[in-house]
Amino acid sequence: MSSLLRRTGLTVAVVALATGLAVATPRADAATPDTVVRAPGHEADAVELAAQVRERQHRLASLYRQADARDRALLGRKAVLAQYGYHGDPDDVVAVLPLASYSLSAGFGLTGPLWEAEHGGQDFGTYVGDQIVAVAAGVVTEVSYAGPYGLRTIVTLPDGTEVWYCHQTAVSVWLGESVDVADPIGTVGSTGNATGPHLHLEVRPGGGSPIDPMDWLRAAGLDP
Ligand SMILES: [Zn+2]
Repeated sequence: MSSLLRRTGLTVAVVALATGLAVATPRADAATPDTVVRAPGHEADAVELAAQVRERQHRLASLYRQADARDRALLGRKAVLAQYGYHGDPDDVVAVLPLASYSLSAGFGLTGPLWEAEHGGQDFGTYVGDQIVAVAAGVVTEVSYAGPYGLRTIVTLPDGTEVWYCHQTAVSVWLGESVDVADPIGTVGSTGNATGPHLHLEVRPGGGSPIDPMDWLRAAGLDP
Protein backbone atom coordinates (compact mmCIF):
# COMPACT_ATOMS: atom_id res chain seq x y z
CA MET A 1 0.00 0.00 0.00
CA SER A 2 2.81 2.33 0.80
CA SER A 3 4.10 1.85 -2.75
CA LEU A 4 0.62 2.61 -4.08
CA LEU A 5 0.50 5.74 -2.01
CA ARG A 6 3.97 6.75 -3.07
CA ARG A 7 2.99 6.23 -6.68
CA THR A 8 -0.25 8.13 -6.18
CA GLY A 9 1.59 10.87 -4.35
CA LEU A 10 4.11 11.10 -7.19
CA THR A 11 1.33 11.27 -9.76
CA VAL A 12 -0.37 14.02 -7.81
CA ALA A 13 2.90 15.92 -7.55
CA VAL A 14 3.63 15.56 -11.29
CA VAL A 15 0.11 16.55 -12.22
CA ALA A 16 0.26 19.45 -9.78
CA LEU A 17 3.50 20.58 -11.42
CA ALA A 18 1.98 20.30 -14.87
CA THR A 19 -1.20 22.12 -13.99
CA GLY A 20 0.24 24.61 -11.57
CA LEU A 21 -2.36 23.65 -9.02
CA ALA A 22 -1.47 23.53 -5.36
CA VAL A 23 -1.87 20.03 -3.99
CA ALA A 24 -1.14 18.97 -0.44
CA THR A 25 1.64 16.43 -0.16
CA PRO A 26 0.22 13.07 0.97
CA ARG A 27 1.13 12.32 4.54
CA ALA A 28 3.61 9.46 4.61
CA ASP A 29 2.56 8.48 8.15
CA ALA A 30 -0.94 7.68 6.91
CA ALA A 31 0.45 4.80 4.94
CA THR A 32 0.56 2.16 7.63
CA PRO A 33 -1.26 -1.06 6.69
CA ASP A 34 -3.31 -0.99 9.92
CA THR A 35 -4.86 2.42 9.55
CA VAL A 36 -5.08 3.11 5.82
CA VAL A 37 -5.51 0.46 3.17
CA ARG A 38 -6.77 2.69 0.42
CA ALA A 39 -6.23 6.27 -0.63
CA PRO A 40 -9.37 6.88 -2.67
CA GLY A 41 -9.21 10.63 -2.26
CA HIS A 42 -5.72 10.91 -3.66
CA GLU A 43 -6.44 8.53 -6.53
CA ALA A 44 -9.56 10.44 -7.46
CA ASP A 45 -7.64 13.73 -7.31
CA ALA A 46 -4.90 12.33 -9.53
CA VAL A 47 -7.37 11.01 -12.09
CA GLU A 48 -9.24 14.30 -12.08
CA LEU A 49 -6.05 16.35 -12.45
CA ALA A 50 -4.74 14.09 -15.20
CA ALA A 51 -8.01 14.62 -17.06
CA GLN A 52 -7.65 18.39 -16.65
CA VAL A 53 -4.09 18.25 -18.00
CA ARG A 54 -5.20 16.22 -21.00
CA GLU A 55 -8.05 18.63 -21.69
CA ARG A 56 -5.71 21.61 -21.38
CA GLN A 57 -3.23 19.97 -23.76
CA HIS A 58 -5.99 19.28 -26.27
CA ARG A 59 -7.19 22.88 -26.09
CA LEU A 60 -3.63 24.12 -26.55
CA ALA A 61 -3.05 21.80 -29.52
CA SER A 62 -6.32 23.00 -31.03
CA LEU A 63 -5.26 26.65 -30.63
CA TYR A 64 -1.90 25.90 -32.27
CA ARG A 65 -3.69 24.22 -35.16
CA GLN A 66 -6.02 27.21 -35.61
CA ALA A 67 -3.10 29.69 -35.54
CA ASP A 68 -1.21 27.55 -38.02
CA ALA A 69 -4.20 27.39 -40.39
CA ARG A 70 -4.61 31.17 -40.14
CA ASP A 71 -0.92 31.72 -40.89
CA ARG A 72 -1.12 29.42 -43.88
CA ALA A 73 -4.29 31.11 -45.16
CA LEU A 74 -2.61 34.50 -44.80
CA LEU A 75 0.49 33.23 -46.58
CA GLY A 76 -1.76 31.80 -49.32
CA ARG A 77 -3.56 35.13 -49.76
CA LYS A 78 -0.24 36.98 -49.70
CA ALA A 79 1.18 34.67 -52.36
CA VAL A 80 -1.89 35.13 -54.58
CA LEU A 81 -1.74 38.94 -54.26
CA ALA A 82 2.01 38.89 -54.95
CA GLN A 83 1.28 37.06 -58.20
CA TYR A 84 -0.77 40.08 -59.23
CA GLY A 85 1.78 42.70 -58.28
CA TYR A 86 0.73 43.53 -54.71
CA HIS A 87 3.35 42.88 -52.02
CA GLY A 88 1.92 44.62 -48.97
CA ASP A 89 -0.26 43.49 -46.09
CA PRO A 90 -3.23 41.47 -47.43
CA ASP A 91 -5.51 43.39 -45.07
CA ASP A 92 -4.61 46.67 -46.80
CA VAL A 93 -4.95 45.60 -50.44
CA VAL A 94 -6.96 47.97 -52.62
CA ALA A 95 -5.87 47.01 -56.13
CA VAL A 96 -3.88 44.44 -58.05
CA LEU A 97 -2.82 43.90 -61.65
CA PRO A 98 -5.38 42.04 -63.79
CA LEU A 99 -3.01 39.28 -64.91
CA ALA A 100 -0.14 37.36 -63.38
CA SER A 101 1.97 37.75 -66.52
CA TYR A 102 1.58 39.74 -69.72
CA SER A 103 3.38 42.02 -72.11
CA LEU A 104 2.02 45.51 -72.54
CA SER A 105 0.79 46.12 -76.05
CA ALA A 106 -1.38 48.97 -77.33
CA GLY A 107 -1.54 51.82 -74.84
CA PHE A 108 -4.26 54.31 -74.02
CA GLY A 109 -5.08 57.11 -76.45
CA LEU A 110 -3.62 55.55 -79.58
CA THR A 111 -5.42 55.94 -82.89
CA GLY A 112 -5.42 53.39 -85.64
CA PRO A 113 -7.49 51.22 -87.92
CA LEU A 114 -8.55 48.89 -85.08
CA TRP A 115 -10.33 51.59 -83.13
CA GLU A 116 -13.23 53.77 -84.20
CA ALA A 117 -11.91 56.55 -81.97
CA GLU A 118 -8.93 56.77 -79.64
CA HIS A 119 -7.94 53.53 -77.96
CA GLY A 120 -9.87 53.76 -74.69
CA GLY A 121 -7.84 51.32 -72.65
CA GLN A 122 -4.62 49.46 -72.12
CA ASP A 123 -3.94 46.15 -73.83
CA PHE A 124 -2.21 43.36 -71.94
CA GLY A 125 -0.98 40.72 -74.37
CA THR A 126 -0.98 37.16 -73.13
CA TYR A 127 -2.29 33.66 -73.89
CA VAL A 128 -5.82 32.43 -74.48
CA GLY A 129 -7.22 31.00 -71.27
CA ASP A 130 -5.02 32.99 -68.88
CA GLN A 131 -6.93 33.95 -65.76
CA ILE A 132 -8.07 37.55 -65.42
CA VAL A 133 -8.67 38.81 -61.88
CA ALA A 134 -10.58 41.82 -60.57
CA VAL A 135 -8.18 44.75 -60.19
CA ALA A 136 -10.39 46.05 -57.37
CA ALA A 137 -13.45 44.98 -55.41
CA GLY A 138 -16.84 45.89 -56.80
CA VAL A 139 -20.09 44.63 -58.23
CA VAL A 140 -20.49 43.00 -61.65
CA THR A 141 -22.76 45.35 -63.59
CA GLU A 142 -22.44 43.79 -67.03
CA VAL A 143 -21.54 40.50 -68.67
CA SER A 144 -22.25 40.54 -72.39
CA TYR A 145 -20.98 40.36 -75.94
CA ALA A 146 -20.34 44.00 -76.74
CA GLY A 147 -19.48 44.29 -80.43
CA PRO A 148 -15.83 45.30 -80.91
CA TYR A 149 -15.13 44.71 -77.19
CA GLY A 150 -16.08 41.06 -77.51
CA LEU A 151 -17.09 39.26 -74.35
CA ARG A 152 -16.98 42.05 -71.79
CA THR A 153 -17.35 42.12 -68.02
CA ILE A 154 -17.87 45.42 -66.26
CA VAL A 155 -17.18 45.70 -62.55
CA THR A 156 -18.38 48.90 -60.88
CA LEU A 157 -16.32 49.96 -57.89
CA PRO A 158 -17.85 51.53 -54.75
CA ASP A 159 -16.79 55.02 -55.96
CA GLY A 160 -18.69 54.53 -59.23
CA THR A 161 -15.62 53.81 -61.37
CA GLU A 162 -16.30 51.20 -64.05
CA VAL A 163 -13.58 48.73 -64.91
CA TRP A 164 -14.04 47.00 -68.25
CA TYR A 165 -12.48 43.63 -69.01
CA CYS A 166 -12.78 42.94 -72.75
CA HIS A 167 -12.15 40.26 -75.42
CA GLN A 168 -12.62 37.47 -72.87
CA THR A 169 -13.04 33.89 -73.98
CA ALA A 170 -14.90 32.87 -70.82
CA VAL A 171 -16.49 34.58 -67.83
CA SER A 172 -16.53 33.26 -64.27
CA VAL A 173 -18.79 35.83 -62.62
CA TRP A 174 -22.45 36.69 -62.99
CA LEU A 175 -24.43 39.91 -63.12
CA GLY A 176 -24.93 41.43 -59.69
CA GLU A 177 -22.19 39.41 -58.07
CA SER A 178 -19.85 41.11 -55.63
CA VAL A 179 -16.22 40.40 -56.41
CA ASP A 180 -13.26 40.95 -54.17
CA VAL A 181 -9.93 42.30 -55.34
CA ALA A 182 -7.97 39.52 -57.11
CA ASP A 183 -11.07 37.34 -57.56
CA PRO A 184 -11.14 35.53 -60.94
CA ILE A 185 -13.24 37.39 -63.51
CA GLY A 186 -12.78 35.16 -66.52
CA THR A 187 -10.15 34.19 -69.05
CA VAL A 188 -8.25 35.93 -71.82
CA GLY A 189 -9.41 35.55 -75.39
CA SER A 190 -9.64 37.45 -78.63
CA THR A 191 -13.38 37.88 -79.00
CA GLY A 192 -14.61 41.03 -80.75
CA ASN A 193 -12.21 43.35 -82.49
CA ALA A 194 -8.87 41.77 -81.63
CA THR A 195 -5.95 40.60 -83.72
CA GLY A 196 -4.69 38.24 -81.01
CA PRO A 197 -5.39 37.14 -77.44
CA HIS A 198 -5.17 40.02 -74.99
CA LEU A 199 -7.02 41.77 -72.22
CA HIS A 200 -8.29 45.22 -73.08
CA LEU A 201 -8.71 46.98 -69.74
CA GLU A 202 -10.66 50.20 -69.43
CA VAL A 203 -11.13 52.42 -66.39
CA ARG A 204 -14.02 54.87 -66.49
CA PRO A 205 -14.47 57.09 -63.40
CA GLY A 206 -18.14 57.56 -62.65
CA GLY A 207 -18.98 55.46 -65.70
CA GLY A 208 -17.93 58.39 -67.94
CA SER A 209 -15.00 58.83 -70.31
CA PRO A 210 -12.07 56.45 -69.97
CA ILE A 211 -8.79 57.45 -68.36
CA ASP A 212 -5.42 55.77 -68.85
CA PRO A 213 -5.61 52.51 -66.87
CA MET A 214 -1.84 52.67 -66.34
CA ASP A 215 -2.23 55.96 -64.45
CA TRP A 216 -5.03 54.44 -62.38
CA LEU A 217 -3.00 51.32 -61.56
CA ARG A 218 0.07 53.40 -60.64
CA ALA A 219 -2.05 55.67 -58.43
CA ALA A 220 -3.13 52.50 -56.62
CA GLY A 221 0.53 51.78 -55.86
CA LEU A 222 1.07 49.15 -58.55
CA ASP A 223 3.87 48.89 -61.07
CA PRO A 224 2.23 47.58 -64.25
ZN1 LIG B 1 -7.45 47.44 -76.58
